[in-house]
Amino acid sequence: MAIDFSFPEETQHLIAKVREFCDSVVRPAEEKIGSAPDDREVLVSQIIRMRKAALEAGLWLPHMPEEYGGMGLGHVEMAAVSSEAAKTRFGPYALNAQAPDEGNMHTLLHWATPDQKERYLKPLCNGTSRSCFAMTEPDVAGSDPTLIQTHAVRDGDDWVINGHKWFISGAAGAKFAILIARTEVDPEIPQAANSAFIVDIPSEGWEIVRDIHTMSGGHNHCEIRIKDLRVPDSQMLGGPGQGHLLGQARLGPARLAHCMRWIGQAETALNLMVERAISRYAHGSMLAEKQGIQWLIADSTMELYQCKLMVLHAAYKIDRGEDFKSEVSMAKHFVANSLNRIIDRAIQVHGALGYSTDTPLAGMMTQARWARFADGADEVHQWRIAMRTIEAYTKTGSVTSAAGDLPL
Ligand SMILES: Cc1cc2nc3c(=O)[nH]c(=O)nc-3n(C[C@H](O)[C@H](O)[C@H](O)COP(=O)(O)OP(=O)(O)OC[C@H]3O[C@@H](n4cnc5c(N)ncnc54)[C@H](O)[C@@H]3O)c2cc1C
Repeated sequence: MAIDFSFPEETQHLIAKVREFCDSVVRPAEEKIGSAPDDREVLVSQIIRMRKAALEAGLWLPHMPEEYGGMGLGHVEMAAVSSEAAKTRFGPYALNAQAPDEGNMHTLLHWATPDQKERYLKPLCNGTSRSCFAMTEPDVAGSDPTLIQTHAVRDGDDWVINGHKWFISGAAGAKFAILIARTEVDPEIPQAANSAFIVDIPSEGWEIVRDIHTMSGGHNHCEIRIKDLRVPDSQMLGGPGQGHLLGQARLGPARLAHCMRWIGQAETALNLMVERAISRYAHGSMLAEKQGIQWLIADSTMELYQCKLMVLHAAYKIDRGEDFKSEVSMAKHFVANSLNRIIDRAIQVHGALGYSTDTPLAGMMTQARWARFADGADEVHQWRIAMRTIEAYTKTGSVTSAAGDLPL
């Protein structure tokens, strides 16, 4: 039998190493950051400390090839590392495997010219620069990139770009952006209208208007005005009209990388739920002894199990070079929704304490909410999943290939 749900010994050691790193380095640093929430110096010094320690521990850049200073892990191994690291808030950041840099590194690795790799990818990998990815706009639906209005017009050796972006994560402090803009006037297909550009930050014509305040506070998701921004043609990433292709190629693995981190968060919430249930007494017994609470725990456990299976299977397909679109889409939808439900149930079991900021749950809830629409809204994934299922049935008389193409 070829199916094996265990990890090789070296991956198990790696998970244990990440866990030990998070316990001994990340959690103490998070406590220091939490005790001085408005002190930027504390934040920066603790991040540098965590990152130096990750480098020394050989846990730096798990997703990148060794020639870039990374650990060269495949997607299945990344699932193991990321879900463990994400049980802490700063774990993925300490390892330099956080969004949006992780996705941007993959994008540059596959699409950048040697010169672009030298100038932008290497510093990102070394941890000496940060980046952002600028696609979404306030005036048109982000779910449909064919509507993008930001446009680039050729002028000699340069492109002149005008437009408006928002929710650009990590924009303040980033050294460069991968910017998606319309370049093609009459493309063969609507998806071939956009191109990607690498924009140095700061640049004249690139203005951060504000850090958009969200239900979870300000987290460096910025609104950007772009006015007569000049970018040399050599800064185009990929070819003209390949912006959509590049975005899609980036988003598949990047969505799964989110799922890996969400699994870590969901497991943390379930751990907290059980801990509270076994320690809180009401109406003659502990909460854990009440069937109503057991249902919440059982539903969460079953969902966490499904999340892990889906993510591991999608990662396995990517590693084997198989078509993974459908599996990543289903995993992204399922894990995002499970994450929200599990955190919500954990809050319920905690009562008022869960609603307070004395536990991490309230913060996790406000973060988890965006998982259901960013990087592909629930309904868009459902639409695509349904289309693939209908197509599979009409072509083969069976839905099997759309349901993970498993040998059952
Ligand atoms: C925390 C956070 C960080 C982000 N970071 C970045 C970033 O770094 N870079 C970047 O470019 N963007 C970023 N975004 C933007 C994100 O990618 C968009 O929010 C997402 O693509 C959805 O676009 P929209 O918000 O314009 O929603 P819309 O496209 O307007 O969609 C709104 C809703 O309409 C519904 N809908 C849309 N299409 C369909 C359909 N076909 N069928 C049925 N219903 C539909 C869905 O319910 C959807 O939630 C971020 C967003 C958040 C919240």
